[in-house]
Amino acid sequence: MKRRNFLATTTVAALTASPIANLFARGYRPADDGKFTLLRGNVGYYTNRGGTIGVYLPGGMPEGGVIVDTQFPESAGALLADLKAKGKLAQLAVLANTHHHGDHTGGNGVFAEMASTHVAHARAKKNLMDNLAENDKAGTVPLPSTVFESGWSTNLPDGKETISLRHFGEAHTGGDAVVHFENANVAHLGDLLFNRRFPYIDPKAGGDIRNWASVMKKIRKSYDKDTLYIFGHAADEYPVVGTSSDIKAFELYLKSLQKYVKKEKKKGTSLDDLKAKTIIIPGAPEWKFGERLRDVNLSSMWELV
Ligand SMILES: [Zn+2]
Repeated sequence: MKRRNFLATTTVAALTASPIANLFARGYRPADDGKFTLLRGNVGYYTNRGGTIGVYLPGGMPEGGVIVDTQFPESAGALLADLKAKGKLAQLAVLANTHHHGDHTGGNGVFAEMASTHVAHARAKKNLMDNLAENDKAGTVPLPSTVFESGWSTNLPDGKETISLRHFGEAHTGGDAVVHFENANVAHLGDLLFNRRFPYIDPKAGGDIRNWASVMKKIRKSYDKDTLYIFGHAADEYPVVGTSSDIKAFELYLKSLQKYVKKEKKKGTSLDDLKAKTIIIPGAPEWKFGERLRDVNLSSMWELV
């Protein structure tokens, strides 16, 4: 068992005591390599290929669930097949996309038709349409039917949960949303947090690596110390669920990156030399995984400082 799974499962065992939790604790496994883990208040998450999927399974009924992000058709299909087989999910109140990237929207077609509402930030919808058109794939992935600019919220049909989406400014893309299950106090951050790995940044889609740290600070201040956060991605040894201390650590990475690139640029270091000599960003040594994206982080910041 991977350490990431072990840590997550341990957290779950400590936090949950509902019948559904017991079902999963007894070794429930979706098809393929997928893994569903219940967190608390009927909110859980699913890891397989692509960005982490958030799931709300309403208590005592298979209607009125929520899916946050959809990975790819195959993994989304595996998740749905298993939840359906267990009688846990037959219809969705809300399908939400945290942003437009293909590893978060590729499986929209699996869930869109069973959802009463499909929601995302307005810019995320535009980004998704642009991306599909550019790749000659217009019409192949269902688009959100409901969009918002600053916030959107609804009470779920089981009467036990309220889901609210908020946009805190340009960061990973220009259309990032945080999806908060208010009663469970679990917030899905999409790709606003890459846990201990160099983040992907999409300036073409409105992303702003210089603004990202202040967005994370706003998020940290908007929820509370008990909030559990689901992350889109994590380094292999780290969990995809955490707390505000993980947000703080990521803020420190982003601020350290800005300070470092600014200083090196001022010193006359070229971007090529900076890429060649940088292994970790001074001040944020925990960010050392996903080296493929380190150069992207350096050049994106280089453009802005
Ligand atoms: Zn992304």
